[in-house]
Amino acid sequence: MNAFGDYLEGQLADEVRHQLESHIAHCTTCQVVYDSTRKTLQIVTDSASFDLPEVSVNLISGKIMSRIRQKYGP
Ligand SMILES: [Zn+2]
Repeated sequence: MNAFGDYLEGQLADEVRHQLESHIAHCTTCQVVYDSTRKTLQIVTDSASFDLPEVSVNLISGKIMSRIRQKYGP
């Protein structure tokens, strides 16, 4: 895990992070979503060199969580 990933996961609530991690561990679709979103944001933050706003972190986790809910129900 790189520094950005550490930062990203550090911003997530423990409960959300555990749900994401356990789901992502066995879901290829969400692995791709998580990875591509993380890489995109990393490019943005690397080039602009600014702190990632909390809203972006919530956006990523919200995006993945909504996919999880779509697949498994609320
Ligand atoms: Zn999934």
